[in-house]
Amino acid sequence: MIRGSHERILVGISSCLLGQPVRYDGGHKRDGYLIEVLGKHFEFLPLCPEVAIGMGIPRPPIRLTGDPSRPRAVGVQVDGLDVTDKLIEYAHSVMASRPRISGYIFKQGSPTCGMAQVAVYNERGESHATSSGLYAGVVMGALPSMPVAEEGRLTDAALRDKFVEQVYSYHNRQRSNDR
Ligand code: SF4
Repeated sequence: MIRGSHERILVGISSCLLGQPVRYDGGHKRDGYLIEVLGKHFEFLPLCPEVAIGMGIPRPPIRLTGDPSRPRAVGVQVDGLDVTDKLIEYAHSVMASRPRISGYIFKQGSPTCGMAQVAVYNERGESHATSSGLYAGVVMGALPSMPVAEEGRLTDAALRDKFVEQVYSYHNRQRSNDR
C-alpha cells in the first residue's frame, strides 16, 4: 500500500528510466510505471553518470572487465577507452554534495548504474562473473542503509510496496536526525 504524503520525498533515479534520451545510442528506457505511479509520491532526482563525465550522446558503449572485485569500465568497440576512474570520481562527487535523497532507483544491468548481476568480461570477451555497476557500487557503499531498487524488481507488487515503505521510513529517520 502506498501512503499519501503532503511532503515530496526525493528519490535518485537513473535518468534513462524517466525517458530522458541519454543512453549510449541516444535512446531511453522510459518506465511508465515508475513515472505514473511512484512519481505521484516521490520527486525524482535524475542522474546519468556517463553523460555527466562527458561521454556524450551518442557515445561508445562500455562494459565491465577484469577482476570482478575491482572491475574496469572499458569500451566495447573502442580500444583504449577506460572511464573507470572518471565514473568513480563522479560518484564520490555526487555523494560529497550530500543530496537529500531518501532512496535510489537504478537501471538494471548497466555497467554504470546496475545494482548487481552486471556481467564482467574476461580478456577473451567472455562473461565470467558479475558485479555492481561502478557508479551504483559507490553510492550503495556510501549510503548503505538507504533503500535501493532496480526498475525490473519494482514491477513485483510486494517488492514495490516494501521499497516504498522503506523509503518513507528512511525519510522519517532523516527528519528525526535533523531535529
Ligand atoms: S543506465 Fe545510467 S549511465 Fe546508462 S543511460 Fe541510464 S542513467 Fe545513463
